[in-house]
Formats: sequence, structure tokens, C-alpha cells
Amino acid sequence: MENAESVESGFCSGCRSRSTEKTPGNISTTNGIGRKFYGNADRCSSCGSVVRTLWFTFIEMPVIPLGSYRYRAVRINGRKMPKFWARKTNTRWDQILMTWAVGIIVAAVVITAMYLYEQSKGK
Ligand SMILES: [Zn+2]
Repeated sequence: MENAESVESGFCSGCRSRSTEKTPGNISTTNGIGRKFYGNADRCSSCGSVVRTLWFTFIEMPVIPLGSYRYRAVRINGRKMPKFWARKTNTRWDQILMTWAVGIIVAAVVITAMYLYEQSKGK
């Protein structure tokens, strides 16, 4: 479980001006089904935030893109907390297509492996 923190803090003014105050709220997955962030683009040199895309996931696979966000993990004394700051930004289709491509390749490998396993059992 990750909790969305205040949208006002956590980002530099440049990142704030390129995003809106919409947060994804609390995100979580149950048995691989739920919402999850993927991707890591456009790291900001002043506040360290990155652009990530929120996905609806099914069995740990990203299925439906829900939008891109400026994302920054909350750290206390250098330790990553299960909290983050996020503000909605322009949808990053390049990131979405990349995540989708990786997801499809992983799914294809898993399905092929399962198929081969079933075949080998039959012999
Ligand atoms: Zn920034």
C-alpha cells in the first residue's frame, strides 16, 4: 500500500507548473490486480521527480494505462517510505507503448514456457 501525500509539497515549481494537482490517491494491488506505477522518465534535476504512468494491472501485468504522473518517493533519512508525491501530467504515450511492449513480451514468454511445459509432460 502506498499513500499519496500532499500535492503541494515535494516538487519544484517547474514540475508543479507542468502538472496538475490531481493525485491518483492511494494505490494498491491485491493478488496482482489493482493499480501500479511503471516507468521512469524525465528525471528532474532540481527536485528529482520522474514521470511514471499509472496502470490498471491484472495478474501483475500492466493492462490499461490510467495516466501519467510526476512522481517522487518520500524519503526520510534516505530511506524510501511507502509514500509518494504525485501530480498528474501530460500522458506519456512513448512510456505507455514501451511498458505495453515489455508486458506483451513477458506474457508471450510465460505462455510459451507454460505451453512447452505442458508438451513435455505429455511425452
Ligand atoms: Zn522538479
